[in-house]
Amino acid sequence: MLTSSVLLDQKLDQLEQKIIHHKGLLNKPYKCLSFPSSVEKNYRKRNDKLFIQSSRGVLFFGIFIYMLFGFADKAIGFERAPDLLIIRVSLALAIAISLGVVFHKKLINCAVYLTTIGMTAIGLSLILFISMLKEPYSLAYHLGMIPWQVFVLVALRTYSRAILASSVIVFATYIGFTYSKDLQPFDPELDALVLDFKFVFVAFWSLLILIGVYLGYFMEKFSRQDYVNNKLLTLEAERLTLLSEKLKVLSTTDSLTELANRRHFEHCFESEWSRALRAKEPICLMMIDIDYFKNYNDYYGHQAGDVCLKDVSDVLKSFAQRSGELVSRYGGEEFLLMLPRLNLDEGLLVAQKLCSTIANLNIPHAGADLGHLTVSIGVAAVVPQLEDDMSELIKAADTALYRAKGSGRNRVST
Ligand code: GH3
Ligand code: MG
Ligand code: MG
Repeated sequence: MLTSSVLLDQKLDQLEQKIIHHKGLLNKPYKCLSFPSSVEKNYRKRNDKLFIQSSRGVLFFGIFIYMLFGFADKAIGFERAPDLLIIRVSLALAIAISLGVVFHKKLINCAVYLTTIGMTAIGLSLILFISMLKEPYSLAYHLGMIPWQVFVLVALRTYSRAILASSVIVFATYIGFTYSKDLQPFDPELDALVLDFKFVFVAFWSLLILIGVYLGYFMEKFSRQDYVNNKLLTLEAERLTLLSEKLKVLSTTDSLTELANRRHFEHCFESEWSRALRAKEPICLMMIDIDYFKNYNDYYGHQAGDVCLKDVSDVLKSFAQRSGELVSRYGGEEFLLMLPRLNLDEGLLVAQKLCSTIANLNIPHAGADLGHLTVSIGVAAVVPQLEDDMSELIKAADTALYRAKGSGRNRVST
């Protein structure tokens, strides 16, 4: 059964609306970096999925490097070295295991949140280390903030909000901590140098955060544009598929009755004929013609005639439900019904039932003898032989119809 062209039109309309909607998104500057909620949900889903696919290696490498700095704890940390190592290893393991579970179970929603929390925790742990060590040895750990910051930018590249949140939390904690704590005097010259460098260090770090957030903004913007462009490609492809389906429907159906058209009927008849020939089974054809239809048009108007044709077509459709059965509009008010596997006697019974079903519709027809609409039917059937011509069967049904008309209409003839 062919998909109704009305249904296809509805689908095409919906699809075109979606295309217009997505094209509209491309014209908007992504100032606030968010789509309308329905699109946003799908974008996040896709982006988080990509994040899971592409960031596993980067994140575990980062955690590995963080663990590797345990050697620095050993060299610099002196008596606090074992504590530092315990904190470092526990934190690294906790993050690695949680990320492992999230990535393995593909918990898409959690991946970015967990990464942001993990990164922030690592940054805060570095500040904790600074607080635990004596100066000037702790100063080496200040430098560790820079690779941490760079790693945050790389790991969360298309999530500018996450970059901002993690960076600001750690940076603010660092500022709060270092400026609230007085430097333990060590060597006057070195102390003065450290104080001078402290400001430069903070300035460099702020600059790094600014550059990172700026780049993150563009990365996210491009990622969003890329998403919309990809979505548009998919929608256009869907549209093309629907259009070709519609073209197929238009080329095989009659637009008024939505029955198969004559060309499509001939195509199907050919393959059913071949099938019947191979299977040595009968094939039955019925030519159905509305009685006094010219009068109907003259009396009720052409538009009412069209409605009547549709009503009759709906009844005919209900008689062609099994596989291989097909009803087509063969001419103006003439229809051909093909019923494979039915012999003449069986076809005759179906035709009689069809004839009475139409008569029982009781469609008023002032221009007919009986006062209501009727049809005449010519039935022909054959078990095809190799030397048979399939058009002879159509001719036979047509001749039978002519006979039915001649013997008074509203009847079946063979
Ligand atoms: P008969 O009982 O011998 O079949 O008489 P008839 O009047 O039905 O036959 P005839 O062939 O003289 O007229 C067929 C009419 O069908 C003529 C034409 O106006 C009408 N017709 C054909 N196609 C359409 C259509 O798409 N819509 C409408 N409303 N009428 C149509
Ligand atoms: Mg007629
Ligand atoms: Mg006719």
